[in-house]
Amino acid sequence: MDRPKKPAPIVNDWARPFWEAARQGKLTIQQCKDCKKPIFYPRLCCPHCFSEDIHWIEASGKATVYSYTVVENNAPSAFIADMPYVVAVVRLEEGVQMLSNIVGCDPYEVKCDMPVQVTFEKLDEEFTLPKFKPI
Ligand SMILES: [Zn+2]
Repeated sequence: MDRPKKPAPIVNDWARPFWEAARQGKLTIQQCKDCKKPIFYPRLCCPHCFSEDIHWIEASGKATVYSYTVVENNAPSAFIADMPYVVAVVRLEEGVQMLSNIVGCDPYEVKCDMPVQVTFEKLDEEFTLPKFKPI
């Protein structure tokens, strides 16, 4: 029986560099050239000082789990085969937060403040998803 396909991200022009970098195994975020603060999710201007002088930097990939949930139940979907799985907000070393999955461990061993490192999971030819695994 065919499984439903997982939905792909919807990408706008200013988020495209993030997905292109992820396809090459790099985790990137934006940084404001004026106030130097890190920015994520991708935006057209700095949310702190409204400068439009922002650029992309490569993140270290190191993060800690800020919050998470273990998904044990789901309506029939492409995610059924992955259950139980962890949806988490991770806080990158650079100071921004990112919604992702924790992989490579027992979902019930995930804890807040757990150190994690980015890893990449190819969804299809166009998209590679940054996920995080315990260090
Ligand atoms: Zn700024």
